[in-house]
Amino acid sequence: MTQGVYANVIVDISQEKLDRPFQYRIPDELKGKITAGTAVIVPFGAGNRELAAYVTEVTDRAEIDPAKIKDILQISEKRPTVETNQIRLAGWMKEHYGSTMIAALKTVLPVQQKNKTPERRRIRLLVGRDEVAKLLEEYNRKHQSARARLVAGLLDADGVLPYEKAIHELSVTLSVIRAMEQKEIVRIESETAYRNPVNREGRHREPVVLSTAQRHIAEDILTEYRSGHHGTYLIHGITGSGKTEVYMELIQGMIDLGRQSIVLIPEIGLTYQTVSRFTQRFGQRVSVLHSRLSIGERSDQCERARRGEIDVMIGPRSALFTPFEKLGLIIIDEEQESSYKSEPVPKYHARETAEELASYYGASVVLGSATPSMESYYRAEKGEIKRYELTERLTGGSLPEVYVEDLREELEKGNRSIFSRRLQKLMEQKLAAGEQIMLFLNRRGYAGFVSCRSCGHVMKCPHCDVSLSEHRGGRLVCHYCGYEQPAVDRCPSCGSKYISGFKAGTQQVEDLVHKRFPQARVLRMDADTTRKKDSYQEILSSFERQEADILIGTQMIVKGHDFPGVTLVGILAADLSLHANDYRAGERTFQLLTQAAGRAGRGSSPGQVVIQTYQPEHHSVRFAAKQDYRGFYQEEIVYRELMEYPPSSHMLAVLVLSGDGEKGETLAKELAEQAEAFAAGTPLRILGPTPASVGRVSDIFRHVLYAKCREERTLIALKDRLEAFLDKKEGRKEIVQFDFDPMNLY
Ligand code: ADP
Ligand code: ZN
Ligand code: ZN
Repeated sequence: MTQGVYANVIVDISQEKLDRPFQYRIPDELKGKITAGTAVIVPFGAGNRELAAYVTEVTDRAEIDPAKIKDILQISEKRPTVETNQIRLAGWMKEHYGSTMIAALKTVLPVQQKNKTPERRRIRLLVGRDEVAKLLEEYNRKHQSARARLVAGLLDADGVLPYEKAIHELSVTLSVIRAMEQKEIVRIESETAYRNPVNREGRHREPVVLSTAQRHIAEDILTEYRSGHHGTYLIHGITGSGKTEVYMELIQGMIDLGRQSIVLIPEIGLTYQTVSRFTQRFGQRVSVLHSRLSIGERSDQCERARRGEIDVMIGPRSALFTPFEKLGLIIIDEEQESSYKSEPVPKYHARETAEELASYYGASVVLGSATPSMESYYRAEKGEIKRYELTERLTGGSLPEVYVEDLREELEKGNRSIFSRRLQKLMEQKLAAGEQIMLFLNRRGYAGFVSCRSCGHVMKCPHCDVSLSEHRGGRLVCHYCGYEQPAVDRCPSCGSKYISGFKAGTQQVEDLVHKRFPQARVLRMDADTTRKKDSYQEILSSFERQEADILIGTQMIVKGHDFPGVTLVGILAADLSLHANDYRAGERTFQLLTQAAGRAGRGSSPGQVVIQTYQPEHHSVRFAAKQDYRGFYQEEIVYRELMEYPPSSHMLAVLVLSGDGEKGETLAKELAEQAEAFAAGTPLRILGPTPASVGRVSDIFRHVLYAKCREERTLIALKDRLEAFLDKKEGRKEIVQFDFDPMNLY
């Protein structure tokens, strides 16, 4: 942040004009008082018309001849509006995550439909002919000729007149119409009825009576809010423990205070069932925003929010930017989900951004999860945010019985199939009993790691404790620090020759199931079978109607949906996700296993879960089998602290994208030199540069370097330094992206 000589402003909040910020000088008396988001008055154009404008950025660099830059006239007296808060947020995102101001503004400002047809209004007569005769008599007596003209005109036009016609042809003023509206003689209607994507169906449902634990949480948060304390809270509760009911109670509390709420849910959880629970409680005051809506529909919903027509907006990450005037609460459900981190630049995290936004409005932030992110739990442990626990499952159904099957032992006993003996036996039993089975293949983020099928040993980087990736040409490479070694043909741990990259897909699993259980009806859900619109929902519904015995799928199947008929869940290779060359692999595996295990036994019959693994002793597997979050956290955090990974430390990834591999590499090296120079004498550590694990995507080469530091501020300062360095490079074609505390290593 600079003191700043100049301010870039936008004079209108329309998408079209965003591409063109205007620059003004900050007069001495206003220095230090102006930041991104400040509303100011500026002289505009040749006639120096005084216009309201919003500052997007404060800078020392003149974009045009300094002699031609005019002074800002004054700071606008108006209190902060939705727009100023949004621009301020964009300014914060730019500083915090690294991006251009334009990219940040485009992220934050609500979608607006271009060339939107101007809103048409009309006036409707609400009384009958007899009544009109009486009214005309009264108006004539009182010499209220405008009112007389309007009712007479309406009568001639069969009761409906365009608004413009009434104003211009009948010369009736708006205040006259409003006065008649008060007496319920006429009504102004909008012709462009705003489409609400929320179905009207579903009767109003009375709220449940909250349990003592639920009530305690809701009352505590609302009491703090009313007394002016706006905090961040974590609700840790297993699926079915009643978190959603607490959310709704909080939203009701906000409605009573005239405040609005935003509910963020992962895109995949945005099902009909979730939304309808909210509409059953809050009716038409609820709306949704998601990527399947058209631009027009999304723009309508933002418009309704701006007008105060709704109290609750539900949606994925981007719903955070709903333009509410009186935002009181932001809820982030399943807050550990990686979809809350934006992949496009600015690579913001919805959780941090929500807290920043909430601070502008004095709003509170509630994070909910069955398996909280390491970040949130760490903050709760340090006392930075308040934590509540819900420990009882209110949906009934007992916790499933969990078996951990060691695949090394299976191989030793001569079982080379992908199904352990226990899983095969249970599958036979369930099929015979007509009960349903889910088979889950955990394939997340596995990129050519090499493991031993005899002993489970995984080839890892000796410096980073992330798995090495197999490259063509027989090298094993660490994509984090650049370490390399030759490939091996014998396991260094046990000497077995069964060491290789792991390859198995859902298609292969399906073939094997058909071979082993020819009588079973099988459904498969993965990226291939869900490419068509709605096919995701179709497969789930079909399985729910018990049209199949076995559902095979990737992580898609473990979320959101409840299947009372499922009594067996098989997790085919729990470790696959452990070896993603990624420091979050253990956390993600624990989350997936816990969620998958929670799928069994939702109905009346108790369920069984079989976790197949090469590493039964791994803490992600052990604690997921026991459904013990705290146990997992305590082991995982030791590893993060030791390796200086988030949340105990912070990390910045600098990604260089280039159409020319050599140029990309050169720039990455220059950036690393800059970073090293900056790091001298600070606790910063720089790693790399190295080619990214996916080194080339559609002919774009990717290089990456990392910086680690406990102080986030130091990393932001490093980012500023690198941005300044890049600004000076003329004609650069490479793209450089910054990613703070990345969800994946590159
Ligand atoms: P979560 O969001 O933690 O998964 P939900 O709020 O969806 O949990 O609750 C699970 C189920 O239990 C829902 O069907 C819900 O209506 C019901 N439920 C929650 N709280 C109560 C309560 N206090 N009394 C009765 N039923 C409840
Ligand atoms: Zn081995
Ligand atoms: Zn390494």
